[in-house]
Amino acid sequence: MTGTLRPVLGDQLTHGLASLADLAEGDVVLMAEVGDETTYVPHHPQKIALILSAMRHFAAELRERGVTVDYVPLDDPENSHSLSGELARAVARHRPERIIATEPGEWRVWERMGDWESDLDLPVEIRDDDRFYCSRSDFAALTAGNKTGRMEYFYREMRRRSGLLMEGDGPAGGTWNFDKQNRKRLPKGLDLPHRMRFRPDAVTQEVLTLVADRFGGNFGDLDGFGWAVTRADALRALRHFISDALPCFGDYQDAMKAGEDFLFHGLISPYLNIGLLTAAEVCERAEAAWRDGQAPLNAVEGFVRQILGWREFVRGIYWTEMPGYADSNFLNAGRDLPWMYWGGETDMRCMAEVIGTTRRNAYAHHIQRLMVTGNFALLAGIAPRQIEEWYLAVYADAFDWVELPNVHGMVMHADGGRLGSKPYAASGAYIDRMSDYCGRCRYDLKQKTGPDACPFNYLYWNFLIENEDKLRDNRRMSLIYGNLAKKDPEERAAIMRSARAFLDGDDW
Ligand SMILES: Cc1cc2nc3c(=O)[nH]c(=O)nc-3n(C[C@H](O)[C@H](O)[C@H](O)COP(=O)(O)OP(=O)(O)OC[C@H]3O[C@@H](n4cnc5c(N)ncnc54)[C@H](O)[C@@H]3O)c2cc1C
Ligand code: SF4
Repeated sequence: MTGTLRPVLGDQLTHGLASLADLAEGDVVLMAEVGDETTYVPHHPQKIALILSAMRHFAAELRERGVTVDYVPLDDPENSHSLSGELARAVARHRPERIIATEPGEWRVWERMGDWESDLDLPVEIRDDDRFYCSRSDFAALTAGNKTGRMEYFYREMRRRSGLLMEGDGPAGGTWNFDKQNRKRLPKGLDLPHRMRFRPDAVTQEVLTLVADRFGGNFGDLDGFGWAVTRADALRALRHFISDALPCFGDYQDAMKAGEDFLFHGLISPYLNIGLLTAAEVCERAEAAWRDGQAPLNAVEGFVRQILGWREFVRGIYWTEMPGYADSNFLNAGRDLPWMYWGGETDMRCMAEVIGTTRRNAYAHHIQRLMVTGNFALLAGIAPRQIEEWYLAVYADAFDWVELPNVHGMVMHADGGRLGSKPYAASGAYIDRMSDYCGRCRYDLKQKTGPDACPFNYLYWNFLIENEDKLRDNRRMSLIYGNLAKKDPEERAAIMRSARAFLDGDDW
């Protein structure tokens, strides 16, 4: 062969990928399903099935375009089960002149790519992943002066640069942020959009059988698999979201309801993260819905903020802070992750609801991840690495670059405030305000301490007491610490006793 070998990873399933831009005759695209990637955490079976099936469909689409694809399935007896091993075998098969790849999403793969040139004795070109609004180098430059070191200022700068939701030099509607309008509780009787499910075709069926055989023991159901595995279907899911859910997305962004797993959320993060959809097309279509009068500004701004703001920001933090980012443990949290996260019984209804949707769907929406399972892990002092592994394993959209900052930084505050200026700690009152979970819970939300009290209540104050020396001087925590100071010693002692009894007991 005289051409180029172009490896495409499982989260690079985009026809416009940088490393596929100049495909020429004689080039070979390499795609490999390797054991290293399917087992580095015990992934939810739906996540593995989604990625493998989407990879197989993507390879077929490339072939239809006349591209030569060398595809190594998971059950190929010759499979070395590592990316570098498969690349070496493909080099031996095709004898290319050079390799062109797109930068990976994860640090551990990036490190391995650094060895390719010397290991294979071939020129290796690694191109920027231009599917993001902000490149790694742009983010580093932008945040270096600390002017845009916080998400809000970074987001405003990204609005200016992209022109999204701008009117002249200012934000559409005269304000950058409609968050205050976006915290409504779900009213009774409101019609909810249905989730668009995609019937598995023959390719997906084959993958489902393979995954059931090999990964059926992992946490998570495979039966309800309904994810899109092609770009065409992902676009259908996006159109469905924009017409049926986006108009109410803002109002009920933070709401939770028992038995309703999806509410007005997009369910598009897996498609964005593996490349079936791009951030730009999603944001532009949402903006067009507002300009055409199909969705209100508070909804569209709230949605665009998640992608242009949060998604780009966490990626930037990941790449500027790695490899050391995951090692910090600002609050010295070290408790083992309780079994209930992996499907064990719990009487806490909020936890049972969120872990239940996670098991059924490989999905939970943002406020469930942040304010229920995340909040509990923070308050209970779970070891960051253990809760990070859980989040990385159980969600269909979980990749290190996006999961790690969200869990390590936003949820666990283990980075000491690099990502968020204060921990998102909350008592049961928050969960009650935003959901209907508490009504039929075995615990009593109104009780503050004792065996029947809502555990979030005393764990919240106990967390503040235990971490007082680290958090008291945080300006954004001063009001809360003012309230703690008003508690008399007996109340503090009762809080700590309840927390100790719960954390040392086996009720969870
Ligand atoms: C503890 C925790 C772990 C998370 N882990 C992941 C993860 O592994 N992968 C992942 O894609 N998202 C993660 N998120 C962010 C967010 O919860 C999911 O992106 C969202 O729930 C996906 O569902 P959706 O497509 O219905 O989102 P919607 O609510 O419809 O939001 C639209 C889009 O905004 C983006 N988005 C929203 N919030 C964030 C955020 N904080 N960080 C990055 N992107 C965001 C997503 O691409 C999402 O598809 C995590 C959040 C928390 C609190
Ligand atoms: S009472 Fe407490 S434990 Fe029960 S659902 Fe409400 S917040 Fe969760």
